[in-house]
Amino acid sequence: MKASQFFISTLKEAPADAEVVSHKLMMRAGLIKKLGAGIYNYMPMGLRVIRKVEAIVREEMNRAGAVECTMPVIQPAELWQETGRFEKMGPELLRISDRHGRDFVVQPTSEEVVTDIARQELRSYKQLPKNFYQIQTKFRDERRPRFGLMRGREFIMKDAYSFDRDQAAAKASYQVMAQAYRRIFDRFGLTYRAVAADSGAIGGDLSEEFQVIAATGEDAIVYCPGSDYAANMEKAEALAPQGPRPFPSQAMAKTATPGKSTCADVAELLGLPLSRTVKSLVLATDTTNEHGEIVKTQVWLLLLRGDHDMNEIKVNKVAGLENFRFATVAEIEDYFGCKPGYLGPIGLQKPVKIVVDREVAVMADWVCGANEADFHITGVNWGRDLPEPDAVADLRNVVAGDPSPDGKGVLAIERGIEVGHVFYLGTKYSRAMNATFLDENGKPQPFEMGCYGIGITRLPAAAIEQNHDERGIIWPDAIAPFTVVICPIGMDRSEEVKQAAEKLYAEMLAQGVDVLLDDRGERPGAMFADWELIGVPHRVTIGDKSLKEGVVEYQHRRDAAATKVAVSDVAAHVK
Ligand code: ATP
Ligand code: MG
Ligand code: MG
Ligand code: MG
Repeated sequence: MKASQFFISTLKEAPADAEVVSHKLMMRAGLIKKLGAGIYNYMPMGLRVIRKVEAIVREEMNRAGAVECTMPVIQPAELWQETGRFEKMGPELLRISDRHGRDFVVQPTSEEVVTDIARQELRSYKQLPKNFYQIQTKFRDERRPRFGLMRGREFIMKDAYSFDRDQAAAKASYQVMAQAYRRIFDRFGLTYRAVAADSGAIGGDLSEEFQVIAATGEDAIVYCPGSDYAANMEKAEALAPQGPRPFPSQAMAKTATPGKSTCADVAELLGLPLSRTVKSLVLATDTTNEHGEIVKTQVWLLLLRGDHDMNEIKVNKVAGLENFRFATVAEIEDYFGCKPGYLGPIGLQKPVKIVVDREVAVMADWVCGANEADFHITGVNWGRDLPEPDAVADLRNVVAGDPSPDGKGVLAIERGIEVGHVFYLGTKYSRAMNATFLDENGKPQPFEMGCYGIGITRLPAAAIEQNHDERGIIWPDAIAPFTVVICPIGMDRSEEVKQAAEKLYAEMLAQGVDVLLDDRGERPGAMFADWELIGVPHRVTIGDKSLKEGVVEYQHRRDAAATKVAVSDVAAHVK
């Protein structure tokens, strides 16, 4: 490729909404261009990276015996109604209707469609095992799209689905995928960790996330440096000796104001008569995984000031929470096994930002807690800039230094970016959709399934979080938009330089090297700045002076300075 024919568009400054380094650098390097919240154009330079990620994933999926197909982005709602996810999935699922008023969804994942294929096509145990995969556009109406491609609303995922005759075979298929994922992430050249994740209602240990280690990661991961124990925070909390965090959290006691903890006390503290003006609204929130299974339930009790009719107050949006529903205090007490009256009118597990359709939207410095001595917290601000839930680390039940569940040391905590997820599903979808095959005895049996995702467009962002410096991106060779850039100095002035550059370019092309010749005629400073920002790993600079000595200058993106290399030896440097 020649730069004059390609499309290069770099920026000096990152847009103001870019918070993390990968987002900033992807924008500045012209890899992506924003079209809307969480929706991006993949520009030519960025698309080359994405295509390389796809190629590696495709190669390893094929090697592992999976077969590629493509399922529609727009899917009939009927299938999603069969599993109940059309209703259950919450606002992340984009529902649309056509001119006839028929409902559809924009696929956030494809269990329903692939199960529909299987129930029609896989009739006999002889056709099993089978693993179908696709590399396809997804849409999830994320509560908080951010960080560029890291958490987009439209993004590309590789999703695979295995079909097996029994549990043992399904677990074997799962292990084949988990192995393939290790090969894939090894090939990307990234530091990652496979961590145990919650497998929801199915239970068992057959759910792992592949987390690229990065300080900006949205997930907390817990591991034991002395062993191979690793889990995401949710799983680690579920396994902790004290179990999932109780409500109200012990941590609340830390900031409690002694003696002001009953309904009446709190009302008094606020200067409000209890009976008439203090009313409570209880929200129970379910954190679901991608299969709509509840993995965590949290409770939020909100105090509303004034004479609001509870039935009139609608909570439109609770930022920080993906799914929520209203519940009564009694229901919540029952759920947590609290004695009746334990929960007070206001309680809070973690601060969240809340937006309601009345002036109660902004609530400052409230006192929240439970109806038991010393269990409330003060200074809670609703509707203000609050710390991200994860920043409230001391509310966790698992902290660094806790003993590892395997008894082999103490736990450490680091942050990660979930780039892949393997998940044993059992017969959840096949039973719901009556997808069966005939076994050896001619009896119909539901398929044993697994599903396996990789965030194709999230991966380049994760790679940048791990590989960059103050000048820009440093791509691992495997996914660089170009492996080598040839930078001729004064190509327009010197026929020797021009010829040498064209010759090297042609040779590299002939050897199958992914090379770009920068023939734009830019000054060296501007040219180098562009390629350092874009992050091409190998650079060959050709100038009059060095040519006279029969050498060119080679510099790896991580090298502090260039080294002189004989023209004939350059190819060896980029392999
Ligand atoms: P997250 O916890 O980050 O929301 P998830 O658990 O909902 O991800 P999965 O349903 O497991 O995601 O999907 C498989 C993979 O798709 C994830 O491991 C991730 O790499 C990628 N992915 C999920 N959501 C997004 C998104 N909004 N933008 C980009 N990639 C995503
Ligand atoms: Mg998600
Ligand atoms: Mg996740
Ligand atoms: Mg996941």
